Amino acid sequence: MDSISTKNATVFFNSEVYTALNNYLKTDKPSKIFILVDTNTHDYCLPAFLERIESGDIVIEVMEIPNGEDHKTIDICTGVWEALSEYNADRKSLLINLGGGVVTDLGGFVASTYMRGIAYINIPTTLLAMVDASVGGKTGVDLGALKNQIGIINEGVMVGVDTSYLDTLPQNEMVSGFAEMLKHGLIYDKTYWNTLTHLEKLDISDLDQLIYDSIIIKNEVVTSDPTEKGLRKILNFGHTLGHAIESYFLENADKTPLLHGEAIAIGMLLESYLSTKICGLSQEEFEIISSGILKTFSKVEINKNDQKVIIGLLQYDKKNSYGVVKFVLLEAIGKPKTDCVVHNDLILEAFDYYAH
Ligand code: NAD
Repeated sequence: MDSISTKNATVFFNSEVYTALNNYLKTDKPSKIFILVDTNTHDYCLPAFLERIESGDIVIEVMEIPNGEDHKTIDICTGVWEALSEYNADRKSLLINLGGGVVTDLGGFVASTYMRGIAYINIPTTLLAMVDASVGGKTGVDLGALKNQIGIINEGVMVGVDTSYLDTLPQNEMVSGFAEMLKHGLIYDKTYWNTLTHLEKLDISDLDQLIYDSIIIKNEVVTSDPTEKGLRKILNFGHTLGHAIESYFLENADKTPLLHGEAIAIGMLLESYLSTKICGLSQEEFEIISSGILKTFSKVEINKNDQKVIIGLLQYDKKNSYGVVKFVLLEAIGKPKTDCVVHNDLILEAFDYYAH
């Protein structure tokens, strides 16, 4: 598979990942290599990664953080910054983030801020991180329940997508990543959406090309608007309500936390409903979207009380300006519209539709 050039980096695939990475190490000669993993990628991905990396006499240090979204925090960053400092990381050090979106978001942020910025490379090991989180330079952590509230946009020097890491990924995590692929179809490419929703099952053998196509879509959007002044906002389709739902389920002790993609799938369904009321999305396409999402994602109970709190959380959405909540909605599949304002009554109506 050909590599993909982003604004400041290159995305390599499968065996090319290690050729490119080893060339980089030879030519750039980092002073030290730091590899950030979480509990799972330490066990499932690090051994294979270490076998393929040719570091010569450059020292490698491995730093491990606990797995899961509730560890995407500034406290964990502090621990990683301190470890870098203790191991004498300097401005020529390289951080390699080997993990899912939590590791790539947090590691990217740590690298972008340590000594005002050191080089980093993302090696995504979940489907979600391959198709979305590792590409585009958005880095950051959560602030309490508020998703990605602290962060910076800064691309690493390289992304290496080796789909063999997916062999150990649990099925529910595969499904979570699939949500972001569906999003790419909905906002950009109806043919891609059709291909995804006609798949019999999520089989790794079909996935290489589909992952590649998703990265192409994300990269086209990001390169045309790296700092999210305009078009890049479309990548937030499903995320206005999705992030609020994810935050609410993460913080509420009575709820089982949802995976990121599971929350985004609910957000996309609700926001598609809103699109029929506000942006002229046809009923026919809405039904197609609804059945396409529900084919993979079962419904989750969100009661009236939950709905009110979730709507309250929308005030923290990063797309808001002057206190007004701005949605990305759809005029049609593949035709998003940004900066849509939606009355809360309509959001409650969307939740009612979802509940039945
Ligand atoms: P994650 O990083 O928590 O990974 C999911 C789980 O899979 C974790 O328990 C992890 O330890 C485990 N895991 C990872 N690789 C594995 C492997 N190969 N085998 C077995 N287990 C493995 O979550 P995620 O779904 O990858 O990413 C979600 C995060 O990505 C969220 O924080 C979200 O905000 C962020 N995100 C960022 C962007 C962006 O543009 N920066 C885009 C989308 C999502």
